[in-house]
Formats: sequence, structure tokens, C-alpha cells
Amino acid sequence: MSKYYTGRKTKNLFDPQSKAPFKLSRSKIELFMNCPRCFYLDRRLGVGQPPGYPFTLNSAVDKLLKKEFDIYREKQVAHPLMEKNGIRAVPFKHEKLNIWRDALHGGIAYLDTPTNLLFSGGIDDVWVSPDGQLFIVDYKSTSKEEEVNINADWQISYKRQMEIYQWLFRMNGFNVSSTGYFVYCNGLIDRDIFGAKLDFDIKVIPYTGDDSWIEGTVLNIHKCLRSDTIPASGQDCDFCKYAQGRKSVEKEK
Ligand code: SF4
Repeated sequence: MSKYYTGRKTKNLFDPQSKAPFKLSRSKIELFMNCPRCFYLDRRLGVGQPPGYPFTLNSAVDKLLKKEFDIYREKQVAHPLMEKNGIRAVPFKHEKLNIWRDALHGGIAYLDTPTNLLFSGGIDDVWVSPDGQLFIVDYKSTSKEEEVNINADWQISYKRQMEIYQWLFRMNGFNVSSTGYFVYCNGLIDRDIFGAKLDFDIKVIPYTGDDSWIEGTVLNIHKCLRSDTIPASGQDCDFCKYAQGRKSVEKEK
């Protein structure tokens, strides 16, 4: 059996009778936004979509960026990318930073008492202005010929990700700027030889977040989880087409 997909789960599912807080990560909010049906199948009934394989090259870039920004965090001076982009801030130094960065061990978390839902997410970085305002920062990496941006339809998930992190920090009492930054690394493929080396262009893209959709979404998520009815799907995706196609041919046999 694949170690990445274990089929139907029976643990950590939402139980309407339970009094314990129910954990939901940032990616589960995204799943709900994309398709309440899949969210319900996953969090209530234990049938999740098969995961994608790990993006280890992207993770390597994230780790190296974290190490690099940590050097400037230690000295409490701006990283050259921040200076180049006119950002008056330094990497934020905080005793909980490593917890916030570790989604598997808590991340930045907030318990919504009325619904008893415990939301969390693992951030890449936080910068702080001289007057103590926080900027949420997310690292992204890709490789494409054209310049990177966040304008494609599918990148709505990047924007929601930023807004959820901004919301989580606000709910933890921090003064958070609506401006967040994507540190977007683009692996250059216009080189004549590889030479065991990949160069990157790095662009810092500001984004003005608006977290006003989250409060209503929290209530909708709660309502969805408590319901005994599987909701309709929110989209027409390849997984469903595969499942339907398979069901129909199996019926014919
Ligand atoms: S359309 Fe189907 S497979 Fe796709 S996300 Fe929704 S329920 Fe899941």
C-alpha cells in the first residue's frame, strides 16, 4: 500500500457529539472553499482525496530562504530583498516563530470558541515594521519562462492562504498589516548548461489581503460538519470525473 494514501480514515474525524476542539488546517479551509462535498467526505466521513507527491525541490528552496532570512533576523537588519523593494521592516524575532513555521506541530493556531473549531496554519515568515506592525510573508517557487505574478485564476488559493494567516495572527492579538508579501523564486532555464546549479530570479510581490470572508466561512464550515447530509460538489474536478467514469464502467460489467 502507498505510504502516501491509506484509504478510508477512522481517526480525527468530526464527531458532532464530541466536546473536544476539532482541528482544521489552513489547507482544509481551502478544501472547503473549493468543494464542500470533498471537505465533508474528508473531515466527516474519512475519505480524503489522494495526496499529491511531495514537492521536495520547492521545500528545499523554502528551507534555504528560511535559513537566509534567519541570518538577518538574528542581526535585526533588513534583508537586501526588503531594501531593494523599499520595505521598511526587518524579519520578526519571536520565541514562537519556529512553532508558527511548523504546521505539523501546531503552527499559528486559534480556537473559535462558539464553534469549537481549532484553526491553524504553518507560515513561512513574518516581517515587522518599525512601529510593530506585522507583514505575513509566504515563499513560493516555480520555474517558468515568463515573469512570475499572482494574477492567474488558480492563484486565488495563494491569496486566501495569505488572508488566513493574517486572520490567524490577528485573532492571536497581533497588529497585522493588510499588506503581505510573496517572495517568489523563479528557477531560470535559459542557461546553456546545467552544471549542477539552478539560478533563480526572486521577486517580492506585495498583496493586500482582505480576511472579511473568513468569519462567515467559519460558520459555514461548522454547519457543513454538523449536517447529516453530504453537500453538493462545488466544482467539476478530475477526481470526480475519474470516480464517475470508473463507477459507470464497473456497472456495465
Ligand atoms: S468535485 Fe468531487 S472529487 Fe472534486 S473536489 Fe468535489 S467532491 Fe471532491
